[in-house]
Amino acid sequence: MEREQWDVVVIGAGVVGSAVARELTRYQLRVAVLEKELDVACGNSSRNTGMLHAGFTYKPGSLKAECAVEGNREFDQVAAELGVPFKRTGKLVVGFTEHDRENILKFKAIGEKNGVEGMRMIDKEEIERIEPHAGGEFAMYVPSSGILDPMAYTIALADNAAQNGATFLFDHRVTGIARDAESDAYVISTSQGEVRTKWVVNCAGAYASEVSEMLGYPNYPVRGFKGEYFVLDKKAGAYLKTPVYPAPNDKGGFSTHATPTVDGNILVGPDSYVTEGWEDYKCTKEHLDGLIRDGSKMFEQMRREFFIRNFAGIRWKRVDEEGNVLDFKLESDQQGHPNTVNLVGIESPGVTCALPLARRAVALLVAVEAPQKNADFDPVRPAPKRFYDMTREEQAAAIAADPEYGEIVCRCETVTRAEIRRAIHNPLGVHTVTGIKNRTRATMGRCQGGYCETRITEMIEQELGVRPEDVRFNRAGSYMFTGPVRGDAATAGATKAPAEAPEGSVSA
Ligand SMILES: Cc1cc2nc3c(=O)[nH]c(=O)nc-3n(C[C@H](O)[C@H](O)[C@H](O)COP(=O)(O)OP(=O)(O)OC[C@H]3O[C@@H](n4cnc5c(N)ncnc54)[C@H](O)[C@@H]3O)c2cc1C
Repeated sequence: MEREQWDVVVIGAGVVGSAVARELTRYQLRVAVLEKELDVACGNSSRNTGMLHAGFTYKPGSLKAECAVEGNREFDQVAAELGVPFKRTGKLVVGFTEHDRENILKFKAIGEKNGVEGMRMIDKEEIERIEPHAGGEFAMYVPSSGILDPMAYTIALADNAAQNGATFLFDHRVTGIARDAESDAYVISTSQGEVRTKWVVNCAGAYASEVSEMLGYPNYPVRGFKGEYFVLDKKAGAYLKTPVYPAPNDKGGFSTHATPTVDGNILVGPDSYVTEGWEDYKCTKEHLDGLIRDGSKMFEQMRREFFIRNFAGIRWKRVDEEGNVLDFKLESDQQGHPNTVNLVGIESPGVTCALPLARRAVALLVAVEAPQKNADFDPVRPAPKRFYDMTREEQAAAIAADPEYGEIVCRCETVTRAEIRRAIHNPLGVHTVTGIKNRTRATMGRCQGGYCETRITEMIEQELGVRPEDVRFNRAGSYMFTGPVRGDAATAGATKAPAEAPEGSVSA
């Protein structure tokens, strides 16, 4: 009989799957994460505001409320352990009308029930003192809200899981799950062949209902609420330090807000509208115009000269037959579907809730399996200081120890050759250009990679000993180069252009 390979397979390497993997490595379990993309956080975990929510808009007693408050309270420690940037900025929830005031007070009372501390109403004068460029006639100030980089956080959770023994298998799309009655193992069909495991944890984000059905649970109805964003230049960041949100609507949803990022940019968005497309991440003129209109009410310096790029994300909410939004689903049915944990509808505030949800998911497995603790588990992920954040003295010392700190590859974000080299050798073995960008911030500045993207590509080739036409931008098939511009393709070693060359790919 074939040997069972893994004790637990987690499907999906978003923030939730990565948090689950990390929590599983606290035990002596062989853990693998199957991810269809080439890196972590390629779904909605990188397409959000990066707000550490306080927990005042979620129904008291719900899993969303419980996990948001818990996730918020613990985050200073989590950020320190994982070496991720985090700022407890507080938040202004601003209002203009009496209806806004009623809604703010309604959700303030809900927040107090949920255990959110320190919320208080403030007048226009105090808004101006806290944020001179924020809109609003009055506001609720929420001191416990904070900002984090959701991509950096997901990478850190996954790195820490890998350092503690988990294996991340990228480019593994799960296409089916069967139970082998003889061995009691699950046989997971993937785009790279079969994977066998005793336990399966479903963290597939947008596709969680599909995977839920593969495990024998219902294909829960979900609805995609898409939101588009503007990213503003760091010059705009000088005008805003505190996130500014409008009063929640009657159901607790927020429309367009203005949120500083931990790196000093400003995000304006998201708006919210229903989409049918599972990965419909395109931005549209209609919605971007709406962001300018609504964003200017929150942030009075929403100037066109600050716009550097756009993106969109989709909140996949579980809904009932009438379309009412339901709580997160976290379940484990040992009788019906043994050795499975199912997570569906993990929409906002899923980043804030990732670790509390992961602990609850792993507790369900531990209650059945009773695995031994991993005495070597180390919650601390080493994270060297960025060159940009070092003092002059620290920079001089870094260059003395490694001269590649003296060569700036990304001029906009001041990222050195030494940092890019280190990122290329990341613990997860991610080798895409976007993967290096997400680990260093190279290409994220005003020129958006115009200067450094080809230099990074060249470094990937050199460090890994691969051919130019093997380097990928972000996804399977997204080759950076399609072939030589001049000379004989055969002697240059080039092959035909790959079928899926991405828009904007160039010839070597
Ligand atoms: C616009 C927007 C704003 C938000 N703002 C915030 C915020 O400010 N704060 C906050 O706390 N939360 C926020 N959220 C919510 C948060 O982003 C999500 O709840 C969270 O990212 C969900 O993480 P996940 O790991 O469940 O899903 P995902 O990040 O989507 O990860 C799922 C992973 O599974 C993989 N996958 C799917 N199917 C398969 C398969 N068949 N085989 C293998 N792999 C598969 C996907 O490729 C993906 O990597 C926001 C969300 C959106 C869209």
